Amino acid sequence: MLWFLFYNNKLLINNNNDNVSIPTKEDLTTLEIQLKREIYIGMLDNSPCLTAEVTNDLLLLPDNLSYVSLKELFNTLEDDIFQMAGRAYQIINWERTHQYCGKCGATNENKGNELAKECPSCGVISFPRISPAVIVAIIKEDKILLARNINFPTNFYSVIAGFVEPGETLEECVQREVKEEVGVEVKNIKYFASQPWPFPDSLMIAFTAEYDNGEITVDNKEISHAHWFSCFNLPANIPGEKTIAGSLIQWFVKQT
Ligand SMILES: [Zn+2]
Repeated sequence: MLWFLFYNNKLLINNNNDNVSIPTKEDLTTLEIQLKREIYIGMLDNSPCLTAEVTNDLLLLPDNLSYVSLKELFNTLEDDIFQMAGRAYQIINWERTHQYCGKCGATNENKGNELAKECPSCGVISFPRISPAVIVAIIKEDKILLARNINFPTNFYSVIAGFVEPGETLEECVQREVKEEVGVEVKNIKYFASQPWPFPDSLMIAFTAEYDNGEITVDNKEISHAHWFSCFNLPANIPGEKTIAGSLIQWFVKQT
């Protein structure tokens, strides 16, 4: 059994000679650990996985155990373990923020047959929050459009991304975000892949698209600079291959 335990939004991990793993019951037996919101979240390699919040401050953790943020674990945990950790994180956050009905304030109850909460007083049902966002590689001949977000580190460039709004299709969202952020229009929008992004609750849905018309004009609110890059002069700092943004850029490089 694997325990995905959170304390102050950080995950408890077992680190043996730089081999990072999720603690098992045996790792925890000697600890006087107190838990709340224990939830079964699925199976990983034949091991049942549970998540919970640690409620007591364990000042003296054994040397091999430590609390680490999910962001720091993105590049160290294996993909399937990270994905389960992200699922655990999102479910714990949802449990914490949906204890009460948002409409009438009554105490929510678990809806038995699915991952949802139901208000016993007015019947409102709440599902775990997932915020879909599109991310798109725009190609113009042998170049890709990469942009610098004002919040990125210096000289870090990536593809265009943005949150889906109520009532729009994913394709409409791609067109709107691209137009808003860099002022160009795109066509031939094609699905590429998706990636859960638990920072804190996104689902990234990636597309490729072809440049249609317009000149690059950045909005200077989210994007401070954008440019068409060939595979021979990519910026020095781009997303890593484990991110879907990095996969899109690598897809472009392999194409050209
Ligand atoms: Zn209610």
